[in-house]
Amino acid sequence: MIKFLDLQKINAQYADELKQVAAEIIDKGWFLLGERVKLFEQQFCDFIGAKHTIACANGLDALRLILKAHIELGVLQEGDEVIVPANTYIASILAITDNRLKPVLVEPDIKTFNLDISLVEQAITPKTKAIMIVHLYGRTCWSEELEVIAKKYSLKIIEDNAQAVGAYYHFNDDTKKRTGNLGNAAGNSFYPGKNLGALGDSGAVTTNDEQLASTIRALANYGSAEKYVNKYQGLNSRMDEIQAAFLSVKLKYLDAENEIRRKIADYYLENIKNEQIILPYPTAHRESNVQHLFVIRTKYRDELQKYLTKNDIQTLIHYPIPPHKQKAYAEWNSLSFPITEKIHDEALSLPIYSSMENEEVLTIVNLINKWKNDH
Ligand SMILES: *Cc1c(COP(=O)(O)O)cnc(C)c1O
Repeated sequence: MIKFLDLQKINAQYADELKQVAAEIIDKGWFLLGERVKLFEQQFCDFIGAKHTIACANGLDALRLILKAHIELGVLQEGDEVIVPANTYIASILAITDNRLKPVLVEPDIKTFNLDISLVEQAITPKTKAIMIVHLYGRTCWSEELEVIAKKYSLKIIEDNAQAVGAYYHFNDDTKKRTGNLGNAAGNSFYPGKNLGALGDSGAVTTNDEQLASTIRALANYGSAEKYVNKYQGLNSRMDEIQAAFLSVKLKYLDAENEIRRKIADYYLENIKNEQIILPYPTAHRESNVQHLFVIRTKYRDELQKYLTKNDIQTLIHYPIPPHKQKAYAEWNSLSFPITEKIHDEALSLPIYSSMENEEVLTIVNLINKWKNDH
């Protein structure tokens, strides 16, 4: 059986180091707001290239905290509109509505699965104050055109970097920056299945804005920058010392792991040959995709998934129900987003992770190439 994602195998590579740091923390007896979180925050700043990292409990909280801080600072107000891709994972949208802001759903480009930047300008109203871009499936969503639009309308750009930690954007002048360091602030997730996965929940905000950073730091700790003095009505959203220590171990290997994912993606792209399947479109720069998910499309998605399951290959659908069709957002259920709906009907994610064996990738390719739907 080929698993969709084998976390046991991924973490087994680093088991000795992980067990050692866990033992150190148990012996020391200091579990929150300590040296390990501070160290990881510094290492993550160095990695991303951003001035500030604020560790928190998970990726959703990272996004919630960014928006909440903008509200505390008077940059955003209840009811303001935030543009967000209609096909994102629900967490991006939950962060917006949780802060009583209004998500404005914009269709993705079917070629990139990312926000269609050419549709952004027409979605802007006088209430629009921010754009939340999502580097979906590990692919960078950015363009110099987006920066121009944001500047023209004074919009904040917030990155949902949950799926793309380690990816780059290459500018026209040949310089590059990591995702998480492109907009005003970014939410990063270290959910175990993400490219940089903790052994439990955790997340982080990255930003170059010092005032935003200190506001978020206070908000994540009951709204307090000084013990028992509460400036804001905050949350409790902190990263554990033990998760920070695990992440410091795993961060060292992230670029190498992402490169293995890219090699698997290359192999899929070169060798899957089936007329009924549309492969993901390659990026101009290979570093602009950390291949969090390898998503193919076919009109006969459910049949293909059944066929692969029967042949002991696990696949997943990201995602089966778009946000506007969810019960949680009943007010949007009658809206129509044809491209988003098409993706949700046709997308299938193949296994892709750093500890996959070559033979496993080969087996998947051979099975897919043999598949034919006779509808
Ligand atoms: C995983 C994910 C999140 C949320 O991260 P958690 O750590 O699970 O809270 C947000 N947005 C996207 C696009 C994600 O994939």
